[in-house]
Amino acid sequence: MDVSARRAFNLLKEMAYVRVSGTEEEKKAAERLLAEAKKCGVKTQIEPFTVKTGKVNKARLVVTAPYVKEYEVTGYERSLSTTEGGLDAEFYYAENLLPVHLQNCKGKIVMINGRLRRADYEKLQKAQVAAILTFSGTTLDRNSETDCDIRKLREVMTDPFGFAVALNMRAADAAEIVRRGAKTMHIEVDSECFDAQSQNVCAVIEGSKYPDEIISFGAHYDSVHFSTGVYDNMSGSVIIMELLRYFAAHQPERTLKFNWYGSEEQGLLGSKAWTQAHEDELENHVLMINVDVAAATLGQNAAPILATEAAVGYVDALMKEHGMACSVKMDIYSSDCIPFADHGVPAINLCRFGTAGAGYIHDRRDNLKSGYLDEKSLDITLQQALMLAKHVVNAKVFPIERTISDEIRKKVDEYLFKEKK
Ligand SMILES: [Zn+2]
Repeated sequence: MDVSARRAFNLLKEMAYVRVSGTEEEKKAAERLLAEAKKCGVKTQIEPFTVKTGKVNKARLVVTAPYVKEYEVTGYERSLSTTEGGLDAEFYYAENLLPVHLQNCKGKIVMINGRLRRADYEKLQKAQVAAILTFSGTTLDRNSETDCDIRKLREVMTDPFGFAVALNMRAADAAEIVRRGAKTMHIEVDSECFDAQSQNVCAVIEGSKYPDEIISFGAHYDSVHFSTGVYDNMSGSVIIMELLRYFAAHQPERTLKFNWYGSEEQGLLGSKAWTQAHEDELENHVLMINVDVAAATLGQNAAPILATEAAVGYVDALMKEHGMACSVKMDIYSSDCIPFADHGVPAINLCRFGTAGAGYIHDRRDNLKSGYLDEKSLDITLQQALMLAKHVVNAKVFPIERTISDEIRKKVDEYLFKEKK
């Protein structure tokens, strides 16, 4: 059986709904992928894992002086709840958390620029803020066309630095409260933390000649709130499904594993769970090929590789030999390749990035109606993936050394917040 971009795109259309980590919809998507994989007549299973998540029942923010106005906010999942009657405190805009800002934060409701990164969270917790406020979107957003983003206090933040009250608001509102000189605020958060179940969908084809050499294909199938995740990353999910169909019909010499990861958007939780559960066999993994974002009509192809310069040269030469346009570089990529590289398994990512103004991730615009994806463009990454896979799967001598360069090792360690020695 040959691969088909049409069939892949039809499956993508069918699964164009929000699939957030640990939800019923994520599970429904996993079951759909499982059913599709089963049709290929290979060994399949769902591997569940636990995710720490939460739900915010109520979140309010009211500026109380020098003017009074309530603003739309969302509570971070896993935020602390405020005590009975809410929290009243001074407001302080701490911009990018320079030392000058930090000395003014204690006991205040503190707003910062951009995402709440782990390093910012550490600083804010050490400065003993009363609550954390972030904003998302742009000051040009129309409320009817955008959502006030829902964020999460991840374990990488709460495990070392404890919990906090954290809220998110719209950029235009954040600008207004700064412009109008908000001095004090009243906030209320009612939040629950709980464990939920997420899952990876797994399929295996045993190799005919080198069964102990494993090549692992991966793509995450979860999305974030408000996003149907057709681009990020049902596109990659349906591409590796086509590869599964192909190799189910063309017996590979090496063993192939196909994994659709859940909860990638919450910090690569699916691939972390998988590499942990399969730690023993990872030394037999010779390569991981990950597909995360494809099908953008206006875009460009890239292959960030977590291995060595020799691996980069090999993939680059293959692309050129086949007349395939792809920018092949040694770099990390924020996706499920990371836990594999962390375990010493070389990883190749295949992506087609939408160009500026023609590629949307992590909000409601990642939707088929946005009109920036198409079947022909999906076929570009599908063909690159198939070409690469055909070469490595049946190579006489495996062409990629099982080595991660020091440069990549260092970037992976930083990405995973490993302590510097
Ligand atoms: Zn992604």
